[in-house]
Amino acid sequence: MTKRYRPTKPFKLLLGRDMSFEKMMFTNYPALQERLEKLQKNGKRGNEDEKKHLAWLLERGEDRAVKTLCPCCLERPAKYFLAKYFFQEKRFTIEEKLVFCKSKECEKKFFSQIKPHREAVAVLPIKFSSLDKFISGKDRKKLASLLKKLFHLEHSPTSEKLLDFFSE
Ligand SMILES: [Zn+2]
Repeated sequence: MTKRYRPTKPFKLLLGRDMSFEKMMFTNYPALQERLEKLQKNGKRGNEDEKKHLAWLLERGEDRAVKTLCPCCLERPAKYFLAKYFFQEKRFTIEEKLVFCKSKECEKKFFSQIKPHREAVAVLPIKFSSLDKFISGKDRKKLASLLKKLFHLEHSPTSEKLLDFFSE
């Protein structure tokens, strides 16, 4: 169903302000998931456009083409990123250089850069659903800004620009 859906404009939330589902993919991903679940659960008629748009958007967030190359091989696009957890500060760091394509040879090179005894690490796919793995809004913000870099988006793209990106 969502395969055939092709939105022509972003789904804006409030008139006169540029806040849209497209922007919320970066700023409040968990809220979008919750909203879709709620809409699907109560099964009421009348929210069909919203439901379709949300389902489409969340699906598109899973297969966007990464534009940044894997720094280990400089051949294939990066596919995964690494988040390091610092126990003392109780926060993650997410760095642009710590991404890789997950080929055998790059995996070796990649993991030689980290010190597994000093920090806990998580390796996650470069997809929007990875935003859902972080409880802290600050950590999600770091990942959202990394996603923009890896997909070669501007710092504050308009909703229309983002719709183009999710439609690619
Ligand atoms: Zn590689």
